[in-house]
Amino acid sequence: MKHKEVFEFIEDWAPKGIAWERDNVGLQVGNDDDLVKGLLLTLDISEDVIRKAIESKCNLIISHHPLLFNPLSKIDVNSSKGRIIELALKNGITIYSAHTNLDFTKDGVSFALARKLGLEKIKFLEFAPSTQYKLVTFVPEEHVENLLEKLSQAGAGIIGDYTHCSYQLKGSGTFFGKENTNPAIGEKGKLEKVDEIRLEMIFEKWNLNKILKALLSNHPYEEPAYDIYPLQNRNVNFGFGAVGYLKEKIELIDFVNFVKKQLGANSVKFTSGNKKYIQKIGVCGGSGSDLIPKAINENCDAFVSSDIKYHTFLDYGDSIALIDAGHYYTELPIIDELEKRLNEFFVTRKTKAKVIKYKPKNKIKVVE
Ligand SMILES: [Zn+2]
Repeated sequence: MKHKEVFEFIEDWAPKGIAWERDNVGLQVGNDDDLVKGLLLTLDISEDVIRKAIESKCNLIISHHPLLFNPLSKIDVNSSKGRIIELALKNGITIYSAHTNLDFTKDGVSFALARKLGLEKIKFLEFAPSTQYKLVTFVPEEHVENLLEKLSQAGAGIIGDYTHCSYQLKGSGTFFGKENTNPAIGEKGKLEKVDEIRLEMIFEKWNLNKILKALLSNHPYEEPAYDIYPLQNRNVNFGFGAVGYLKEKIELIDFVNFVKKQLGANSVKFTSGNKKYIQKIGVCGGSGSDLIPKAINENCDAFVSSDIKYHTFLDYGDSIALIDAGHYYTELPIIDELEKRLNEFFVTRKTKAKVIKYKPKNKIKVVE
């Protein structure tokens, strides 16, 4: 299996189009045509990560944080980044990153954190602005099934966990083919009236070219009529942070200790909020302070995230229990989710490729 097939699998789940505009997700270094031998999963890229990949014969590294974020003006092998690139290329290693696309997708970074903390009924804390368009096209009834299938394969008709979602309405279309036309139904030089189905399907905007290609190559007409509308729907597929419930109400201090233990964090900072017992929990893996007002608005009893500043603790600490478990530890659960999905993918594709998780030597330490 080629690296690019692994990338496609990841992007079906976490499309690049949902990532922040200024983010740099996808291939960072290497050759996406190489065959996968072994895969190393990591949150960050360092020289030690590359050495670990070489040592364990992994030729593909998938990281959460991108290696290349700011544009490089030079590749200086005396700098750490330069050495990483040199080491990777010399050893035939490809580096790929799934960052904010993995943050904003369903079952992504924040959902993985919420599950690790035992939350139930998990939903996005905040839905992303609509990323969808609607396709409307008009097709003779006997061609609807095939077109629906081809459009579905190209990514149209997905609503939550449902696929092939469409709406179909009977009607009639008219056309008059001029001298140089070759109509699939009827004759040129004559006003034709044909029974057609109005077929409607939604799709993500980054799939526009794939959808148009599927439509134009599978619609029986020489000149298919179609409309594409931008939508303002609530986005059920993508969003920010997550919210869920503990099985039962527990005391805040017990939850804080549970967070520390469950994430393996070396320290957890927190404020008490305004409730002794808590159940509804907001979370955001990585730096999630921007979502605190939303968590308060949603009546969350506590919010688990990282990189919460001193003044943020002071500003909101009376309204909600804020729990900062560290950037690394709140994002780590996504590595297990990636491992599980990739192993399943390799099994279904009958490909033998080992997937290993990088354990950083140089973690930030605390003195108690
Ligand atoms: Zn992060």
